[in-house]
Amino acid sequence: MEKEQLIKIDDSIHAWFNTLDDIIPKLINDMVTSTKKNRFDLVTNVDKSIQQKFESFLKEHYPSHQLFAEEKSNSEINAKEGHVWIMDPIDGTTNLVKQQEDYCIILGYFVEGEPMLSYIYDYPHGKLYKAVRGFGAYVNGEPLSSPEDIELKDAIISYNPLVINDETIQDLNEASFGYRCIGSCGLDSIRVIKGQFGAHVNTNPKPWDIAAQFLFASELGLKMTTLDNTKLDFSTAGPFIISNKACHTHMLDVLNSGNGYKN
Ligand code: NAP
Ligand code: CA
Ligand code: CA
Repeated sequence: MEKEQLIKIDDSIHAWFNTLDDIIPKLINDMVTSTKKNRFDLVTNVDKSIQQKFESFLKEHYPSHQLFAEEKSNSEINAKEGHVWIMDPIDGTTNLVKQQEDYCIILGYFVEGEPMLSYIYDYPHGKLYKAVRGFGAYVNGEPLSSPEDIELKDAIISYNPLVINDETIQDLNEASFGYRCIGSCGLDSIRVIKGQFGAHVNTNPKPWDIAAQFLFASELGLKMTTLDNTKLDFSTAGPFIISNKACHTHMLDVLNSGNGYKN
């Protein structure tokens, strides 16, 4: 894809994100929360409205592009064909509902299965993270540099302790410097992208949880793989790690040692 074409699309996406700054406070003010699969599986009018607004934006400006997103059925879409946008309209919905902080919008643009543009919008902190294929990664327009190497013994690591067995958690505690988890796959990944965390693991993400992270990882020299250290398929997702390259192998060794990490 031509650079000019990519820049034009990027400009229009920036303009779309700008429109949200007026809308999100009103949506939060009138927040309505409902549950999906169980009492912890939340969705709000904010998630639904943001996704609907992006769907309308695509229909108007890029009618041939498809949307693959959390709050809709994606059964008709082959994410590896044509122009596809993968979106998590709110990542960290529990945080939105309970704290009104630490949630983000995840958006990834793929052409014939290749990531071209990626966005993670940390709306509460006014930070738009962006990666452009071949042109690096940015926060609010300022370039991000590749993080320094972090060995596991010096690293803060992040994962959901509910899905890892106690023995593995103990091994991770011993091998790393410390543990933190924000509760948003996108924002936990951003900490790795910025060199604050060594690694973030999610054992069950869907494509919209990790769509943007691929391009940040490749532009900044981070590792992003399955937990078996194989190539991660963006269209199916599944157990994943995004990691500083200096602690990736060690982190996977600890996770997979003994009887593995599963509960
Ligand atoms: P949470 O605050 O609801 O979510 C934390 C992050 O995980 C968010 O990015 C969220 O995306 C995502 N997430 C939500 N449900 C998930 C699932 N079933 N598998 C993988 N990622 C998920 O997390 P929580 O309150 O600690 O846990 C809520 C439920 O999600 C529990 O059943 C937990 O076991 C599960 N969970 C599993 C993992 C994992 O690594 N397997 C990670 C987090 C949560 P949205 O905000 O877009 O939903
Ligand atoms: Ca999510
Ligand atoms: Ca979500």
